[in-house]
Amino acid sequence: MFDSVCTSCHRRQLIFPSQVRSLDNSERGILETYTCWCGSEQTWLTGAAAPARDDLVPAA
Ligand SMILES: [Zn+2]
Repeated sequence: MFDSVCTSCHRRQLIFPSQVRSLDNSERGILETYTCWCGSEQTWLTGAAAPARDDLVPAA
């Protein structure tokens, strides 16, 4: 589970594993394709090789 801002509905929402359509390894990191709650197909680049997100706050 992760949070993401949708490029279609512009809402930050939690994305659950059941919404994930594919995981692809690439040189830039892991490209995760998922379906937003609004029905739009979205992608998220994650993994060690992916650029860091500035908006993440470590859990206390
Ligand atoms: Zn959306």
